[in-house]
Amino acid sequence: MSPTTYTCTCGAVLQFKQDLTREQAEVYPTWKCKHCGTPVPGTVAEQIKHQHPS
Ligand SMILES: [Zn+2]
Repeated sequence: MSPTTYTCTCGAVLQFKQDLTREQAEVYPTWKCKHCGTPVPGTVAEQIKHQHPS
């Protein structure tokens, strides 16, 4: 299975957990691009946060 990548509106390619910042919400945390703070879709973030550089 190929890794999930997400190209943010700022142009950053998000592929690994450390490319995201987590904002704790009341129920579900929101994941955001660490470069610009734009929220990443939850389904995408779910996959990216399990990916680590080898
Ligand atoms: Zn961004």
